[in-house]
Amino acid sequence: MVNKDIQLKGKGTVAVHGGNEPDPNYAHLTPIYASSTFYFDTAEQGMERFAGEDKTRIYSRWGNPSFKVAEQKIAALEAHGITGADGKPLQLKALLHASGQAAMATMFLSNLSAGDKVLTHYSLYGGTQELLTKVLAENNIETVITDLRDPELAAAAIKADKAIKLVHIETPANPTLQCVDLEMISGIAKQHQLLVTVDNTFATPYLQQPFRYDVDYVFHSTTKFLNGHGTAIGGVLLGKDLEKMNSRVWKWYVLLGGNSNPFDAFMLTQGMRTLELRMERHCSNAMAVAQHLDNHAAIEQVLYTGLPSHPDHTVAMKQMKHPGGMLSFEVKGGVEAGKRFINRLQICTRAVSLGTVDTLISHPASMSHAGIPKAEREKYGITDGLIRMSVGIENIEDIIADLDNALQ
Ligand code: PLP
Repeated sequence: MVNKDIQLKGKGTVAVHGGNEPDPNYAHLTPIYASSTFYFDTAEQGMERFAGEDKTRIYSRWGNPSFKVAEQKIAALEAHGITGADGKPLQLKALLHASGQAAMATMFLSNLSAGDKVLTHYSLYGGTQELLTKVLAENNIETVITDLRDPELAAAAIKADKAIKLVHIETPANPTLQCVDLEMISGIAKQHQLLVTVDNTFATPYLQQPFRYDVDYVFHSTTKFLNGHGTAIGGVLLGKDLEKMNSRVWKWYVLLGGNSNPFDAFMLTQGMRTLELRMERHCSNAMAVAQHLDNHAAIEQVLYTGLPSHPDHTVAMKQMKHPGGMLSFEVKGGVEAGKRFINRLQICTRAVSLGTVDTLISHPASMSHAGIPKAEREKYGITDGLIRMSVGIENIEDIIADLDNALQ
C-alpha cells in the first residue's frame, strides 16, 4: 500500500495506486463488499461512525468500502497537481452514484432552489438538456441557454438575469464536441459569485482537470471512459467545498437514493487502473482515424477537436492534454449511405454509449435520433449521414481497414 502522504508524480501511478485502502484481510484488491449494512462492536462505536465524516461502514445507501476506493481514486485524479486556496494540495470529496444522471441530479438539486436559474451552452448531452429544461423547469428552476463560447454573450446573459445562480458547462459536448473555454467562463461566473459546474465525461481527469479553473463541481458518467470496459452504468459527483459536500450535498445524495452498488464500484475501480494507457491509445487512434477520413472521397466532413478545421480546436488544445477519443463524420449520400456504412462494419461495434475498449459506432439519424424530425435534429448538427464514433484501443490498422471496407 503506497503511503498516502507521497505526492505521486504521474496520473498513471495515481490511477493504479491512488485512493486504495488497506484491507483487513490483506486482499490485494478492495473486495466487493456486498453488504447492505455494517455491524457495530458497541453503541459507542456506532455513535462514532455516525458522527464521523467517513460514512462507509453504516448502511450502503450512505456509502460502502467498495465505493470509497473508487471515490478516492477519482478525487485523486481530478485533484492531481492542483493547489487549493489554502496553498495545500486540493482536497476533493467524491460521491459515487448509480448513473451520470443521478450524479447530476444530486448536484443541481442540492445547489438550486425554486426560482433560481441555470445558465448553460446549447450543445449538451440529451439527458442533461431534458433534466434541465423539462424536469427542473417543472419545479420552477429554469434554464437560460446561450453560446458560452462567446464571452460577451455569457456576460450579457448573467447581467440580464439576477436569478442565474449556476453556470453549467459540458466540454467537449456530446455529440457535437463543441468546447467551452473553462478559464474564460469560470472567470466571468466568479465575477458574479456564481457556482460553476462541469460535465467532464468526454475528457476524463486524464485529459482535463476543470478544478484548475476554480470551478465548484465536476461530475462524470463513469459508465464511459473511467470504467472503460462497458461493464457498469455509474456516475460520480466531486466537490471542493468539503463542508457543503458533507452536509447539504450529502443530505440530497442519501435522501434521493441515487447511490452506486458494490459490484459496479468494483468494476469501476479496476477499469480506472488502466486509465492512462487506455486514454493515450484512444486519443492516438482517434487522431489517426480523423486524419485518414479527412482525406477520404466518401466523407463530406470530419468533426474532431484535434483537427485545426474544428471550430473549437484552439480551446480544446488549451485545456486538454490530447483532443480525446470521440469524433464524428458525415458520410456522403444521406441516411441510406449512413445505414449501409454501419451495416458493413465487421470489427467496430454498432452501439450507442462511448469510452469502451472496443470502437463503438452509431448512426444517430437511424438510431438515437430517428424519432426526431429532420429539421429539428439538424439544428443540433445531427445530419442524415452523421456517424458518431468512440474510437477504441484496437490496432489502428484494423480500425482503418474496417472503415475503408464499409465505405467502399
Ligand atoms: N453526460 C454525458 C456527456 C453523457 O454522454 C452521458 C451519457 O451518455 C451522461 C452524462 C449520462 O450518464 P449515464 O448514462 O451514466 O446516466
